[in-house]
Amino acid sequence: AAKSEGKARCQVFHEEMHVRLVDRLEQESRLRLAVEHGELRLHLQPIVAADTGRSVGVEALVRWQDPALGLRPPGAFLPLAEEAGLSADIDRWVLRESCRTLRQWQDEEPEQAPDWISVNVAAPLLESPGLPDLVTEVLRDTGLRPEALVLEVTETTLMRDVAATAPRLDRLRALGVRVAIDDFGTGYSSLGYLRDIPADVLKIDRSFLDGLVGSGRHRDLIDAVLHLGLTLGLQVVAEGIEDAAQLSELVALGCPLLQGFHCGRPVPAEQLRRQSAAMVAQ
Ligand code: C2E
Ligand code: MG
Ligand code: MG
Ligand code: MG
Repeated sequence: AAKSEGKARCQVFHEEMHVRLVDRLEQESRLRLAVEHGELRLHLQPIVAADTGRSVGVEALVRWQDPALGLRPPGAFLPLAEEAGLSADIDRWVLRESCRTLRQWQDEEPEQAPDWISVNVAAPLLESPGLPDLVTEVLRDTGLRPEALVLEVTETTLMRDVAATAPRLDRLRALGVRVAIDDFGTGYSSLGYLRDIPADVLKIDRSFLDGLVGSGRHRDLIDAVLHLGLTLGLQVVAEGIEDAAQLSELVALGCPLLQGFHCGRPVPAEQLRRQSAAMVAQ
């Protein structure tokens, strides 16, 4: 009896594995079709200059308008995209759509439009040899100035292979685009890489903001990180500002660029344009 029970359990195990595999393949093919059928959407979040209060930049954040499940955040499908080999395709779409969107905004409302757009680039696109040519082509096709494009690469991606990454970033910067180190401070990496990585912008991860208000030690740490970036000649953005108290702490510390729900949530470009126009009218 024990033997046949074992066999039955084994059977159940295989069926579960099979169901999970089929489920994943189905999800992957839905995502592949989503990319091909235009179900990706771009949301833009403002990046605000502390001295003027103006939205000088925006970050492009991808969403999936899933016909079955509604609007899905990147955390719900980018891991699957990476496994399915779709990550670079998604990032290419976001790059082109971002440049097109900002160029159009700058053409139609030169006063209100932000100066630059930040686009996230994950490892598969960063490591693809065709990236400099793609950027050149997209800038040419859309007419966006290279200075208006920032490519965001996470600290974790940068650290995968510093020796290979540095020359890649140099080739991109030679085109006139800027490079941002995203999620800075989360990668458990040695600070030494800052010396070797050619970057223009440092984005301090929002985890540094926890406990900022009210704790001297937390404030000292973010102060040190901020001034490390400024001393290295980088533009520094604080990410994830959620309330007025955090905002005023960061402004008091001298953080030049601010991003977070308190400064503006990610929304579709048309909505952000209406909001900006309404603010100017006030
Ligand atoms: P990220 O590049 O660090 O982008 C910032 C994330 O923090 C966004 O989440 C944004 O909505 C969220 N955020 C902004 N302000 C606040 C705040 O005040 N509080 C909190 N709790 N969160 C805030 P989102 O849009 O869900 O994106 C998550 C991550 O997915 C991004 O982190 C980025 O790593 C990745 N991602 C988004 N779009 C793309 C893309 O087009 N390509 C690639 N490769 N990755 C992307
Ligand atoms: Mg980012
Ligand atoms: Mg970030
Ligand atoms: Mg982050």
